[in-house]
Amino acid sequence: MKKTLSVKSKITILLTLLMAGLAVLLLIFMLFISNSVATQTAMDQLNETVHSNLAYVEVTDRKPVISEGFSYFQNGISTLIYSQNEALIAGQIPVSFQAEIPFENGFIRTVDSTDGQYIVLDLWLASDWQSGVWLRGLMEAPNNESLARNLLFISLIALPIFILLAALGSYFITKRAFQPLDHITATAEAINEAKDLSGRIGLPEGGDEFSRLAADFDQMFERLEHSFEIEKQFTADASHELRTPVSIIKGACEYAEKYDETPEDHAETISMIHRQADKMASLISQLLSMTRMEQGTENTLMERVDLGEFAYTFSQEHFMEHSRLKLNTAQGVFVQANPELLGRLIRNLVENAMKYSDDSSPISLTVAVQNMEATLSVQDFGIGIPHEEQEKIWQRFYQADVSRSNENGSGLGLSMVRQIADIHGGYMTLESEPEKGSTFTLHLPLLKVS
Ligand code: ADP
Repeated sequence: MKKTLSVKSKITILLTLLMAGLAVLLLIFMLFISNSVATQTAMDQLNETVHSNLAYVEVTDRKPVISEGFSYFQNGISTLIYSQNEALIAGQIPVSFQAEIPFENGFIRTVDSTDGQYIVLDLWLASDWQSGVWLRGLMEAPNNESLARNLLFISLIALPIFILLAALGSYFITKRAFQPLDHITATAEAINEAKDLSGRIGLPEGGDEFSRLAADFDQMFERLEHSFEIEKQFTADASHELRTPVSIIKGACEYAEKYDETPEDHAETISMIHRQADKMASLISQLLSMTRMEQGTENTLMERVDLGEFAYTFSQEHFMEHSRLKLNTAQGVFVQANPELLGRLIRNLVENAMKYSDDSSPISLTVAVQNMEATLSVQDFGIGIPHEEQEKIWQRFYQADVSRSNENGSGLGLSMVRQIADIHGGYMTLESEPEKGSTFTLHLPLLKVS
């Protein structure tokens, strides 16, 4: 596999490049700013010095009188006095300044000379309306080139150190920011390697992206684990429960091969094999349906159902031949339900009632509203269920007193009934007395009564 840079390294490199770029930009900016600041400061200084010198000069009889306090040279600024005809009267022109420039009152300007640049300011000092003298201030313009050289020199040393620090800083910041991701990856790898889905990332709850990702992963692991558990259970249940009918069929075949001689014997063996095959088929379909319900893959679209009307129609269609089924189904009791599952529940309860009671005794199916709940009860007057068994009969494959149970039973029916009640947000109750009969009741949240 091609080895690519890790995201951490990529971010570190990008951050370092960004910071280095910003540092270079900052340097250029500083160079530019310091240039103009230095020139502006020099101009201000020149302006101030020449103006302050102005106070020490007076013009009497067209001649300048210079009093004490006038400075010809101060802080690199030379102040010169010129006559009206622009002839130098006092002061000394710097050697390096050789430019011939016309006088302009009050105007600071930069002038090129032989050795670099000069800043010049001329001030006109009038004695009367037609005569006076010129004051000229001169100063060397700050040497920007050497400033730039200095800055460049400093940056050559500082920049590599800065880039190194930026790289280190970026690396630590990225490493820290990616710590939760490392944790998520490590957990996912551990789960994968150990093939144990019970591990969880368990990041503390928080609003950031990593906490949300970790929570999503944990939820996914939870679902996966649940799914695997269900699958494991299905495989265990199916292989365990199918073993008995399969060995009965095998035994019957072997017996028939050896001993069955008459066509009647064969017919009996075939009918027994048929019954066992039916049992296996119903067991597999029940198991599959329960597994799908647990996994949430069973189509459980809910709709508004009139419970009484539904129970009535369903019974008419499915138990028409059973005249012992008495219906007492109130109409207009609305619930949110999946008709397919509801039908399966009713069928299981009614078939159990028939299985576990005398053929002659009545069975009643009642739909009513009790304590603000919709209820559907199936009552029989059969063998009943001992008190100690009443909790256990809801478990998978549990059959109270196998000797009494119908051989077609699988012990899955009531477990499925309870599951269906759960899916609907309801629950099951049971009232039963041995030898008197049982009443199984489904309680559902009531949508509306009309
Ligand atoms: P089965 O396929 O054995 O009927 P169920 O899960 O439907 O499985 O029922 C579990 C056990 O509960 C049954 O084996 C039976 O002993 C008991 N049972 C269920 N319904 C009734 C009933 N109406 N009357 C008496 N016993 C019942």
